[in-house]
Amino acid sequence: MIYADNAATTKMSRTAINAMLPYMEEIWGNPSSLYGAGQKAAEALQSARERIAACIDAAAEEIYFTSGGSEADNQAVLSAARFGERTGKKHIISSAFEHHAVLHTLDRLRREGFEIELLTVHENGMIYPEQVEQAIREDTCLVTVMYANNEIGSVMPVSKIGAICRAHKVPFHTDAVQAAGHLPIHVREENIDLLSLSAHKFHGPKGAGVLYVRRGIPLTNLIEGGAQERGRRGGTENVPAIMGMAAALEEACADMEGSREKLLRLRDRLIDGLSRIPHAVLNGDRVSRLPGNVNFCFEGIEGESLLLLLDDRGICASSGSACTSGSLDPSHVLLAIGRPHEVAHGSLRLSLSADNTEEEVEEILRAVPEVVDYLRNMSPLWKDKVNGRKEFVI
Ligand SMILES: *Cc1c(COP(=O)(O)O)cnc(C)c1O
Repeated sequence: MIYADNAATTKMSRTAINAMLPYMEEIWGNPSSLYGAGQKAAEALQSARERIAACIDAAAEEIYFTSGGSEADNQAVLSAARFGERTGKKHIISSAFEHHAVLHTLDRLRREGFEIELLTVHENGMIYPEQVEQAIREDTCLVTVMYANNEIGSVMPVSKIGAICRAHKVPFHTDAVQAAGHLPIHVREENIDLLSLSAHKFHGPKGAGVLYVRRGIPLTNLIEGGAQERGRRGGTENVPAIMGMAAALEEACADMEGSREKLLRLRDRLIDGLSRIPHAVLNGDRVSRLPGNVNFCFEGIEGESLLLLLDDRGICASSGSACTSGSLDPSHVLLAIGRPHEVAHGSLRLSLSADNTEEEVEEILRAVPEVVDYLRNMSPLWKDKVNGRKEFVI
């Protein structure tokens, strides 16, 4: 099997698995218990908190463990909204291509009377700092713009956006789920107030994530319960998963430079090769781009059919995002960068990890053009275009 869907989830690393086992087999006490067996688990949690904090240049007490990226996004956005509301600020700035964990939380706030301003995404998949600066108002209570997009891989100028938000004293949240382990993150230098991470996107376990909250930013609870996470997130901590997450993040950050070079080589080989397919267009910026992301639209095909045929050849890829597959709506991200519906339906995302090989990339480069050709040849619409009875869009 060739796994090229690392933006959906990653395989757990051996390091992460090994870091988890002792917390299932030996140190399985409740971290809130006062006897030794519980306190050992509590100490492990504290060490995980410190190590994760160190990876993003935060302090340990600014790290809150969550069940994943979605929960972290929900809590970040809701907390800033509730804080704003108390001071009469109900204007939120975000972008049209955020993850649904952010967008759907914003929908809820809109129904409550918040004014949600979604910045237009440029055709290359970028949001520019000037757009944020122009949108900020007296009553803005939050700017939430993702670090890197999960579908098209474009990387935002987060540090410039952070500086603008800080200058205007507006809290800045960024969903860094796709960036972690691939790009260096420095929350202090980049003026980030709230940041979301998810372990299973950097070779850690599913069901574990982090919300970083800068000191002084008040949090609203999503889950009421015990005193865990300084009273901000009730529920007995998932100690094994948190230990796996800390080990995976440390490993990803330590290997970042080496794997980056390899990923760039594989990614660029794929982009160059797939660009030769006629009536194909790369989605997302060519330069400001995650090192493992490749995303194309091919005119005249259905992404779903493409995926099924690639699956027959042992290749795991994605079209749109996993969350929207199963629905007939094209990806909101591709629509946000201005792809027409018809074109947005024919998308392919390949997201690589350092486990991928050059041979795998060559196999993908053999399979995709053949499958695209096969599907186009079956399509009456495609024949019309080839015969000049209909216009090509790209
Ligand atoms: C995967 C993903 C999430 C959701 O994370 P989960 O841990 O799966 O809830 C949020 N944002 C982005 C950008 C993602 O890629």
